[in-house]
Amino acid sequence: MSEVRVRFAPSPTGRLHIGGARTAIYNWAFARATGGKFILRIEDTDPERSTEENTQVILRAMRWLGLDWDEGPEVGGEAGPYFQMQRMDTYAQALETLKEKGAVYPCFCTKEELDAKRAACEAAGQAYEGYDRTCRNLSAEEAQARIDAGEPHVWRLKVPENHGPIEFDDAVYGHVSFPIEVMDDMILVRTDGSPTYNFAVVCDDANMRITHVIRGDDHLSNTPRQILIYEALGLPIPTFAHLSMILGGDGKKLSKRHGATSVEEYRDRGYLSDTMVNFLALLGWSLDGESTIISRETLCKEFSLDRVTKKDAVFDETKLDWMNGVYIREMNDEAWVEAELPWFAETYANATGCSIEEAESWVAEPGNKRWLKRMYPLVIERLVRLNEVPDKLAYMFWGSRVQLDEKSVQKVLLKEGVRADEALRLCRNVIADESIPWEYNALQDTCRALCEPNDIKPKNLFQPLRVAITGNMVSPPLFESIELLHRNNVVARIDAVLSEVFGD
Ligand code: GLU
Repeated sequence: MSEVRVRFAPSPTGRLHIGGARTAIYNWAFARATGGKFILRIEDTDPERSTEENTQVILRAMRWLGLDWDEGPEVGGEAGPYFQMQRMDTYAQALETLKEKGAVYPCFCTKEELDAKRAACEAAGQAYEGYDRTCRNLSAEEAQARIDAGEPHVWRLKVPENHGPIEFDDAVYGHVSFPIEVMDDMILVRTDGSPTYNFAVVCDDANMRITHVIRGDDHLSNTPRQILIYEALGLPIPTFAHLSMILGGDGKKLSKRHGATSVEEYRDRGYLSDTMVNFLALLGWSLDGESTIISRETLCKEFSLDRVTKKDAVFDETKLDWMNGVYIREMNDEAWVEAELPWFAETYANATGCSIEEAESWVAEPGNKRWLKRMYPLVIERLVRLNEVPDKLAYMFWGSRVQLDEKSVQKVLLKEGVRADEALRLCRNVIADESIPWEYNALQDTCRALCEPNDIKPKNLFQPLRVAITGNMVSPPLFESIELLHRNNVVARIDAVLSEVFGD
């Protein structure tokens, strides 16, 4: 078999959506698993919606996912250019070929005429069966004369008369057959000379020597049309693989209603790219029917189209969260802190009131980064998304102040019989005592030793201290946190609580 060449062909009309990302991953993994080439082609022919900015957004999302392309924007390649707008001459050439073969004809019917025919059909209660081929019957001389006279025209494919059903073996759907009768003489080139989607895609896939077209099943009905174009051009037809729909938890097609739909939104919500690649790969493909954690390496080695199912896939957010936790815990402290930097910057900016730019340079400073890295053991075990950090670790950035959670004040500090003020005064003395090493075991043991002689239950000592330091009765480990703060700040926080809550 010749070298596998696959492509991902997004239209840059918005962000990279979950469905598109899965298509990209399958193409990429298939290329890697077969030792073939993965090509990125930008289908930017929609003048209103295709923007340079959208292209950049898609390239950024692809890079974030780690889907490197062998040919395409920014990397080039011998089958370029990789933007459809730069390939107009190739479509014009293909049209010439089709003209020479007598496989196309010019059509002069105006939009108004066609609309009127459609309306008449509907008024008569009949289904409109597509273009009625009026111009197909013009003589070559008449057609040429009208072209020469400058009459606006499109070019239509002359669908062959004696063609049986259009059949192909889809790598996912299996054998597919479309009756030829439903194929109207589709437009290939518009009045302004621009190619239609089906024509441009076939020209590109052929010129780029694409062997497998792996794409969403929303394109399934385009495939017989594209096959007719391949046949008209006399070009080999690639293998098609159409991917099933992705459904939300409610069984409806995944859409904005279900929340985030673009890859970047998931990134911004603290999902790792490893998670997204693994999770999306499993929306319709399986390694062995049971493995859920599948590394990129395994995916790139083992991916095959015969394990892609045509059953609709369900996007299960609970599973996504679980998987993200697994990948987060695979990171060491170094990798974790790097991944968390944007959220640490946000947390720092919130706490200090500085600008986000200042916060970004603050967190990037090596000494500060070392400090942030030490927070890893405090949260790593329970983290589900990277964006939980601003909430979970905000207290680390408060300096000498503390923001008290009102419920925790009521349930811990002011609770009957707890004697929280007494507990806090006792702990304050330990923490202020410079002869005790600033190390969590020493601090914790010394505080704990206060319980018995003062007849205080450990819980009634530690919980008030937790609220005074972290502001909340639920927090990461207390003494490990204290060790990462300055002694003066910890004392100041206790003093502030004693004075604000107990009037000391
Ligand atoms: N540009 C098309 C889209 O974004 C994809 C075309 C194809 O894969 O054939 O839907």
